[in-house]
Amino acid sequence: MIHANEAYLKLPGSYLFSTIAKKVAAFTEKNPDKKIIRLGIGDVTQPLCPAVIEAIHKATDEMAKAETFRGYAPDLGYDFLRNTIAEKVFRPLGTDIAADEIFVSDGAKSDSANIQEIFTQNTRIAVCDPVYPVYVDSNVMAGRTGDYDSETGLWSNVIYMPCTEANGYSPELPKEVPDLIYLCFPNNPTGAMISKAKLQEWVDYANRNKAVIIYDAAYEAYISEADMPHSIFECEGARTCAIELRSFSKNAGFTGTRLGYTVIPRELKDADGVSLHSLWARRHGTKFNGAPYIIQRAGEAVYSEEGQRQTKEQIAYYMKNARTIYDGLQAAGYTVSGGVNAPYIWLKVPAGMTSWDFFDYLLEKANVVGTPGSGFGPSGEGYFRLTAFGSYENSVEAMNRIKAL
Ligand SMILES: *Cc1c(COP(=O)(O)O)cnc(C)c1O
Repeated sequence: MIHANEAYLKLPGSYLFSTIAKKVAAFTEKNPDKKIIRLGIGDVTQPLCPAVIEAIHKATDEMAKAETFRGYAPDLGYDFLRNTIAEKVFRPLGTDIAADEIFVSDGAKSDSANIQEIFTQNTRIAVCDPVYPVYVDSNVMAGRTGDYDSETGLWSNVIYMPCTEANGYSPELPKEVPDLIYLCFPNNPTGAMISKAKLQEWVDYANRNKAVIIYDAAYEAYISEADMPHSIFECEGARTCAIELRSFSKNAGFTGTRLGYTVIPRELKDADGVSLHSLWARRHGTKFNGAPYIIQRAGEAVYSEEGQRQTKEQIAYYMKNARTIYDGLQAAGYTVSGGVNAPYIWLKVPAGMTSWDFFDYLLEKANVVGTPGSGFGPSGEGYFRLTAFGSYENSVEAMNRIKAL
């Protein structure tokens, strides 16, 4: 007799963004003449840059000829891409990440969800609160998070690290020691960044406690302040305690094209000396058949001279929107953070309103769609996320509407 995985049945409610989509659809049905501005979902809008498109065309032509046709890609990634990443991303940072420590994949979301498979069932996880929902939900699916409390929105076997105005949206080292720690900087949803000194404290803490940090650096390209860590491997000792997730989605607009990678140093071992690098390689070999050749060539092109110039222009475009939104909200009297090293702006909702109240208020009065902070975790209550991924014109218009409220 077949039974569904009971761990999946514990997942609460519907996904945050489908709830938002339903509310927006209901509003537009009642108000068909209103022009909605969407600053909610974290997806890019600028087209792929010319260097990337050219590489895609060229690789596609190769696929059309018997002599240059490619079948299955190597499951850990083509050497041309792994070498390029080692040389263009990690060497300039002064880190010694080698090409064979880079596992190419179809994106950071799937890697962030799958990576937990290589850890034992009893692994105790720690997450920031608010947080990118994938980290917790994938551990729920693995059956290691305990029970859900619908009152508090917390899982009994997860260590939550509140990130609030009081701590500058940067978590404190937990007293109760976790086995696996998820950190994401620049942060989605708060837009906050962590200093190198603070990240070093996390690395030291993880090494002291034989814990592993999963460091999600999907928004690395948005860091604008000097002296901020672009990789956790800039910290001393990170090679024995850290895994880093990277993505081409936000730095080069590959959200629909799909390409990412995960870095696992050879020295990274569990408490019994088992190589996590080997386990992840084994997992890739069994469950993944490689990212497409054409897309890996596209990824390589991001690191060409033109590719770097063109993708930097895209980031600058989004960051101009971030500035517009940040300044606009501040002028309208809101308490705002983020938006400096990330395409996310995090604001405090007016006193007396919940995050969802503010969502409805903004949708009805300004026809602007954002994301309620409470959707990312209990400590997100009272906050709201706007993204810089829209057009410049819409970012300006949204701020004009909000200022006029
Ligand atoms: C967008 C995003 C990613 C990237 O996911 P992809 O699967 O590579 O598109 C990873 N982590 C966070 C926190 C994100 O917001």
